[in-house]
Amino acid sequence: MKRDYPLEKVRNFGIIAHIDAGKTTTSERILFYTGMSHKIGEVHEGETVTDWMEQERERGITITAAAITCFWTPTHARMQDGVVQATDGTNPARHRFNIIDTPGHIDFTAEVQRSMRVLDGAVVVFDGVSGVEPQSETNWRYADDANVPRLCFINKLDRTGASFEDSYKSILDRLSPKAIRAQIPIGLEGEHEGVIDLITMKAYYFEGNMGQEVREADIPENLKADAQKYRSELIERVVEQDDAAMNAYLEGKEPSAEEIKALLRKGVIKNEIFPVYAGSALKNKGVQLVLDAVVDYLPSPLDLPAVTGTDPKTGNPIERHASDDEPFSALAFKLQTDPFVGSLTFFRVYSGSVTSGSYVYNSTTGNKERVSRIVRLQADKREEVEQVFAGEIAAAVGLKDTKTSHTLCDEAHPIILEEITFPEPVVSVRIEPKTKADQEKMGVALRKLADEDPTFKVSTDEETGETIISGMGELHLEILVDRMKREFNVVADTGKPQVAYRETIQGSSEVENKYIKQTGGRGQYGHVKIKMKKLEPLPEGDDVKIPKNVTREDHFEFINSIKGGVIPQEYIPAVEKGVREAMARGVLAGYPMVDISIELVDGSYHDVDSSEVAYKIAASQAFQEAAQKAKAVLLEPIMKVEVIVPDQFMGDITGNLSGKRGQIEGMEERGMNKAVHAMVPLSEMFGYTTTLRSMTEGRGSMTMEFDHYDVVPTNVAQDIIAARK
Ligand code: GDP
Repeated sequence: MKRDYPLEKVRNFGIIAHIDAGKTTTSERILFYTGMSHKIGEVHEGETVTDWMEQERERGITITAAAITCFWTPTHARMQDGVVQATDGTNPARHRFNIIDTPGHIDFTAEVQRSMRVLDGAVVVFDGVSGVEPQSETNWRYADDANVPRLCFINKLDRTGASFEDSYKSILDRLSPKAIRAQIPIGLEGEHEGVIDLITMKAYYFEGNMGQEVREADIPENLKADAQKYRSELIERVVEQDDAAMNAYLEGKEPSAEEIKALLRKGVIKNEIFPVYAGSALKNKGVQLVLDAVVDYLPSPLDLPAVTGTDPKTGNPIERHASDDEPFSALAFKLQTDPFVGSLTFFRVYSGSVTSGSYVYNSTTGNKERVSRIVRLQADKREEVEQVFAGEIAAAVGLKDTKTSHTLCDEAHPIILEEITFPEPVVSVRIEPKTKADQEKMGVALRKLADEDPTFKVSTDEETGETIISGMGELHLEILVDRMKREFNVVADTGKPQVAYRETIQGSSEVENKYIKQTGGRGQYGHVKIKMKKLEPLPEGDDVKIPKNVTREDHFEFINSIKGGVIPQEYIPAVEKGVREAMARGVLAGYPMVDISIELVDGSYHDVDSSEVAYKIAASQAFQEAAQKAKAVLLEPIMKVEVIVPDQFMGDITGNLSGKRGQIEGMEERGMNKAVHAMVPLSEMFGYTTTLRSMTEGRGSMTMEFDHYDVVPTNVAQDIIAARK
């Protein structure tokens, strides 16, 4: 089979926004405009996007799907005599969009990181009244880390208080000096009518009840000077992309619109320019031109470098290009339950192709699995797909053991693509169904939710038998409990949030331990000598950076240095098991230990009495003693906190944060307000939103995210340890 769509006409992108900037509204408009590009005349008089959304919803639309496919023919390719015409699907300028979902809330940064990995570009949406907000900064940083080309869309320019210029400046100041105006708005607030494109030097108005008819016109007289000035700025920036263009420009030759577009495309793909667009999704202004910019400036999979992975047999690095002729390789990036199709595994193909009904090799687990069907989610339907080619995104039905970040590939040419790294959860709560009868249903629901979200974990308290859920923040867990109610009909009570402490050591030690029992008959004999030292905390991931010093529960090393069989080989695994079990139990307050290296250096055995159990116990006891000697300490999650308050509350806020063992890292002006940055232990931050509200008469706002683990000060640690005893 041949690919159904030329790869240069594919765009895999995401819409990134902080909460409330208008991501949902913009996405709805995108689906609306792309869904009707071939039936423009059919919008019924008075029909609104909401009506349309309502109908689509009945048909099972999922704007929260991990990836949605739609098609877009750029406005100019459909324009005749200055008015956009309808086209059928055969217009050669038609492009396929795979829009990848990226959540806005900070508690879901893992989701953002995950999506960054598979998208090739992004549209970042800003609120034209508030400009850059804390979450936009965090998400921007993740996009920087993953080298994702971006377009900026300053939305809500119809709102009272909206300012394109202030928002644009906040992008320059707080995100990147590489941003540059590609448009300017015509009017603001109630007078926001349309936009001016600084490349075509035309004005655009959006007519028809849904703004679906884009009309091109001359720039209004009063905006001509501004447009000329900002166009020159844009041109000066784009000619930096090419020496010949720069020289021609310096000699007074202005590049043509086509040349400017080509240079801008080059700059955007190299992450050297972030063009800025204007509009109002709600008032149906500007969105179509942003889609045109996606086509013009964001990369197709062909514009990107090859992906690298490792050969699971040799450990050598290998590359895969976005080519149908290379062996199949794909990354599973999201598991999601679809009300119509069941469990879906969203994946991106990096090379080769995969056919529905075939078997794929999961190189992460080493198992083969059958892809029973492949679907693409569109606004109004789930399209069955025969074959998916390099560079494309689709969802598989039927994969049972494939989880987020697993690699699927050709068994004859195996590769493991770099895994997506996620931080370990830092908060946990006990959860109990309202009725006993729901116990089993709750188990199923929690397992499904944990499959979808790698930063959400479910465990059982071994002593009490209670279920414990863990995640990245209080809100993260609240939302999951709420989803359980809405999607699985299970109502549950939760306990007080608990901090996920860890334990580690600060020094090193050496311990010899014998476990011997002689009670008539066969006795027990295990004898080990171990050296314990601290492992450097895990480094940052190279692909998607994880917060500094993230410690993972399995960060542990076991070295067997036994020579001459002083302990027979068959007992070595029992020694490691004993060590691991002791590590999981901790030595101070029962929290799992991390960042420890154990070397088994010596020991002895007894012909009759030695057994696996004896070595396990001997090793376990040795570990506990060694950990005490190596100065065991408690670790706690430290959150990166940003609080925004009016000036008059600054003193109270910083005083309060310092009282919470917080380190104030900096302060700055934020419009009319002040922003405080601090690192504060998570245990001190529960319920902080309520405190903040009462301290600032409801005028403060805050965000926080997990940053790293740090040692708990001794006096505080003593209380925690005492409480656990
Ligand atoms: P999300 O949280 O980023 O998905 O934001 P939504 O799309 O849900 O928008 C948040 C709120 O802003 C909603 O009440 C929208 O109606 C409103 N909104 C979105 N876009 C615009 C816009 O362009 N102009 C105005 N005035 N309001 C908007």
